[in-house]
Amino acid sequence: MPGAPPAAEPRRPRPAPRTPPVPQAGGADLRQKGEETMTEPERPRPGADRDSAAWWELVRGHRLAVQRCTGCALLRFPAREYCPACRSRSWEWQDSAGTGRVASWTVTHQPFHPAFAAEVPYTVLRVALDDGPGLHCWGRLAGAGPEVLAAGLPVEAVFTDAGPGLTLVDWRPAAPRR
Ligand SMILES: [Zn+2]
Repeated sequence: MPGAPPAAEPRRPRPAPRTPPVPQAGGADLRQKGEETMTEPERPRPGADRDSAAWWELVRGHRLAVQRCTGCALLRFPAREYCPACRSRSWEWQDSAGTGRVASWTVTHQPFHPAFAAEVPYTVLRVALDDGPGLHCWGRLAGAGPEVLAAGLPVEAVFTDAGPGLTLVDWRPAAPRR
């Protein structure tokens, strides 16, 4: 019906916000209040799914790859079962150049998880991979502060071994390319 207001979203109960304990402004370390144990909070880990598990396995071996459709040669990332262009389920890994350009970024000042409280502010990048259009990878900014960032800044992948069985892909500024 033209001009009709959009249907209201079905109401769902909102989960209570999960706010991790953070030191209050000007407050002392939480541990001095006796309400914190001496163990470090466990860091959340990326969860591999059916399509990304093999990609994470490659990353553990310090290899960055994208999928290449063997039906139409389209490159795709993140990993998916079907080619979005030709619907083929046949594909192979293709090594990424490991380079890209900053598409956007977020500087996190608020420690949303206590495991990251000592690391704020930190910066997460959305990187447009040089391998082809439409390929975006996310990762931490490494080796520089956010003051160096600009849209289009060339970056290169670095592998960070982050614990047992886990390697992360971070990005650091690269030398300018032509
Ligand atoms: Zn295809």
